[in-house]
Amino acid sequence: MERTLSIIKPDATRRNICGKIVAMLEAAGLRVVAQKRIHLSRREAEQFYAVHSERPFFDELCIFMCSGPVTVQVLEGHDAIAVNREVMGATNPAEAKPGTIRKELAVSLTENSVHGSDGPDTAAQEIAFFFSEIEIVG
Ligand code: ATP
Ligand code: MG
Repeated sequence: MERTLSIIKPDATRRNICGKIVAMLEAAGLRVVAQKRIHLSRREAEQFYAVHSERPFFDELCIFMCSGPVTVQVLEGHDAIAVNREVMGATNPAEAKPGTIRKELAVSLTENSVHGSDGPDTAAQEIAFFFSEIEIVG
Protein backbone atom coordinates (compact mmCIF):
# COMPACT_ATOMS: atom_id res chain seq x y z
CA MET A 1 0.00 0.00 0.00
CA GLU A 2 1.21 3.48 -0.87
CA ARG A 3 -0.09 6.98 -0.10
CA THR A 4 -0.01 10.13 -2.23
CA LEU A 5 -1.21 13.71 -1.90
CA SER A 6 -3.92 14.87 -4.28
CA ILE A 7 -5.29 18.40 -4.64
CA ILE A 8 -8.50 19.32 -6.44
CA LYS A 9 -7.56 22.78 -7.72
CA PRO A 10 -9.67 26.00 -7.65
CA ASP A 11 -10.92 25.67 -11.26
CA ALA A 12 -12.61 22.41 -10.23
CA THR A 13 -14.01 23.49 -6.85
CA ARG A 14 -15.43 26.58 -8.65
CA ARG A 15 -17.25 24.35 -11.16
CA ASN A 16 -18.59 22.04 -8.40
CA ILE A 17 -16.99 18.92 -9.87
CA CYS A 18 -15.11 17.59 -6.80
CA GLY A 19 -17.42 14.57 -6.63
CA LYS A 20 -16.86 13.77 -10.28
CA ILE A 21 -13.08 13.87 -9.76
CA VAL A 22 -13.21 11.72 -6.61
CA ALA A 23 -15.37 9.19 -8.51
CA MET A 24 -12.68 8.95 -11.23
CA LEU A 25 -9.96 8.45 -8.58
CA GLU A 26 -12.03 5.76 -6.83
CA ALA A 27 -12.77 4.03 -10.14
CA ALA A 28 -8.97 3.82 -10.65
CA GLY A 29 -8.70 1.86 -7.39
CA LEU A 30 -7.65 4.70 -5.07
CA ARG A 31 -9.20 5.26 -1.64
CA VAL A 32 -9.61 8.68 0.01
CA VAL A 33 -8.15 8.25 3.52
CA ALA A 34 -8.06 11.97 4.46
CA GLN A 35 -9.78 15.00 2.95
CA LYS A 36 -10.44 18.68 3.67
CA ARG A 37 -11.49 21.82 1.82
CA ILE A 38 -9.25 24.82 2.53
CA HIS A 39 -8.39 28.20 1.01
CA LEU A 40 -4.61 28.57 0.61
CA SER A 41 -2.96 31.90 1.38
CA ARG A 42 -0.46 33.24 -1.14
CA ARG A 43 2.35 32.33 1.25
CA GLU A 44 1.09 28.74 1.66
CA ALA A 45 0.79 28.31 -2.13
CA GLU A 46 4.36 29.62 -2.56
CA GLN A 47 5.62 27.25 0.15
CA PHE A 48 3.82 24.27 -1.35
CA TYR A 49 5.17 24.95 -4.88
CA ALA A 50 8.64 26.12 -3.69
CA VAL A 51 10.35 23.64 -6.08
CA HIS A 52 8.94 25.71 -8.97
CA SER A 53 10.00 29.10 -7.56
CA GLU A 54 12.48 29.76 -10.40
CA ARG A 55 10.05 28.78 -13.18
CA PRO A 56 8.46 31.51 -15.32
CA PHE A 57 4.94 30.27 -14.47
CA PHE A 58 5.47 30.36 -10.67
CA ASP A 59 3.57 33.61 -9.96
CA GLU A 60 0.66 32.65 -12.21
CA LEU A 61 0.48 29.23 -10.57
CA CYS A 62 0.46 30.62 -7.01
CA ILE A 63 -2.12 33.32 -7.83
CA PHE A 64 -4.34 30.61 -9.34
CA MET A 65 -3.89 28.17 -6.43
CA CYS A 66 -5.16 30.76 -3.94
CA SER A 67 -7.93 32.13 -6.22
CA GLY A 68 -10.52 29.90 -4.51
CA PRO A 69 -10.85 26.86 -2.27
CA VAL A 70 -9.02 23.61 -2.90
CA THR A 71 -9.77 20.10 -1.67
CA VAL A 72 -6.63 18.42 -0.34
CA GLN A 73 -6.73 14.68 0.11
CA VAL A 74 -4.58 11.67 0.83
CA LEU A 75 -5.13 8.75 -1.54
CA GLU A 76 -4.13 5.21 -0.67
CA GLY A 77 -3.74 2.17 -2.86
CA HIS A 78 -1.36 -0.20 -4.57
CA ASP A 79 1.12 2.00 -6.50
CA ALA A 80 -0.99 5.03 -5.52
CA ILE A 81 1.53 7.64 -6.73
CA ALA A 82 1.76 6.23 -10.26
CA VAL A 83 -1.92 5.26 -10.49
CA ASN A 84 -2.97 8.78 -9.45
CA ARG A 85 -0.69 10.40 -12.05
CA GLU A 86 -2.02 8.00 -14.71
CA VAL A 87 -5.66 8.90 -13.99
CA MET A 88 -4.77 12.63 -13.78
CA GLY A 89 -3.27 12.60 -17.29
CA ALA A 90 -0.58 14.84 -18.79
CA THR A 91 0.05 18.27 -17.20
CA ASN A 92 -1.27 19.99 -20.34
CA PRO A 93 -4.89 18.86 -20.88
CA ALA A 94 -4.40 19.23 -24.64
CA GLU A 95 -1.85 16.40 -24.44
CA ALA A 96 -3.72 14.22 -21.91
CA LYS A 97 -5.15 10.84 -22.94
CA PRO A 98 -8.92 10.39 -23.30
CA GLY A 99 -10.55 9.20 -20.06
CA THR A 100 -8.06 11.03 -17.83
CA ILE A 101 -9.22 13.75 -15.42
CA ARG A 102 -7.28 16.51 -17.18
CA LYS A 103 -8.49 15.49 -20.67
CA GLU A 104 -12.12 15.25 -19.62
CA LEU A 105 -12.33 18.12 -17.11
CA ALA A 106 -9.36 20.53 -17.10
CA VAL A 107 -9.56 24.06 -18.49
CA SER A 108 -5.94 24.87 -19.42
CA LEU A 109 -2.28 24.17 -18.60
CA THR A 110 -2.50 26.27 -15.43
CA GLU A 111 -6.12 25.47 -14.55
CA ASN A 112 -5.58 21.73 -14.86
CA SER A 113 -7.97 20.63 -12.07
CA VAL A 114 -5.70 18.32 -10.05
CA HIS A 115 -2.30 17.97 -8.44
CA GLY A 116 -0.60 14.69 -7.58
CA SER A 117 2.71 13.99 -5.83
CA ASP A 118 5.43 12.90 -8.27
CA GLY A 119 7.42 10.45 -6.10
CA PRO A 120 7.66 8.79 -2.67
CA ASP A 121 9.73 11.61 -1.09
CA THR A 122 7.48 14.41 -2.34
CA ALA A 123 4.38 12.38 -1.38
CA ALA A 124 5.61 12.08 2.23
CA GLN A 125 6.53 15.80 2.37
CA GLU A 126 3.29 16.98 0.77
CA ILE A 127 1.08 14.78 2.99
CA ALA A 128 2.85 16.14 6.09
CA PHE A 129 2.38 19.72 4.76
CA PHE A 130 -1.42 19.37 5.05
CA PHE A 131 -2.23 16.50 7.42
CA SER A 132 -1.16 15.12 10.78
CA GLU A 133 -1.02 11.35 11.25
CA ILE A 134 -4.28 11.19 13.26
CA GLU A 135 -6.20 12.85 10.39
CA ILE A 136 -5.37 9.97 8.03
CA VAL A 137 -7.70 7.01 8.48
CA GLY A 138 -7.30 4.07 6.12
P1 ATP B 1 1.13 19.01 -10.37
O1 ATP B 1 2.46 19.25 -9.69
O2 ATP B 1 0.15 20.15 -10.18
O3 ATP B 1 0.55 17.69 -10.04
P2 ATP B 1 2.50 18.25 -12.74
O4 ATP B 1 3.40 17.49 -11.82
O5 ATP B 1 1.83 17.53 -13.87
O6 ATP B 1 1.34 18.96 -11.93
P3 ATP B 1 4.48 20.35 -12.73
O7 ATP B 1 5.55 20.38 -13.75
O8 ATP B 1 4.81 19.90 -11.34
O9 ATP B 1 3.25 19.50 -13.33
O10 ATP B 1 3.84 21.82 -12.66
C1 ATP B 1 3.04 22.21 -11.57
C2 ATP B 1 1.84 22.96 -12.08
O11 ATP B 1 2.27 24.20 -12.66
C3 ATP B 1 1.08 22.27 -13.22
O12 ATP B 1 0.11 21.35 -12.76
C4 ATP B 1 0.41 23.43 -13.91
O13 ATP B 1 -0.76 23.85 -13.21
C5 ATP B 1 1.46 24.52 -13.78
N1 ATP B 1 2.33 24.58 -14.96
C6 ATP B 1 3.27 23.69 -15.33
N2 ATP B 1 3.90 24.07 -16.46
C7 ATP B 1 3.34 25.25 -16.81
C8 ATP B 1 3.55 26.17 -17.88
N3 ATP B 1 4.48 25.95 -18.82
N4 ATP B 1 2.78 27.28 -17.93
C9 ATP B 1 1.85 27.52 -16.98
N5 ATP B 1 1.60 26.69 -15.93
C10 ATP B 1 2.33 25.57 -15.85
MG1 MG C 1 4.31 18.33 -10.08
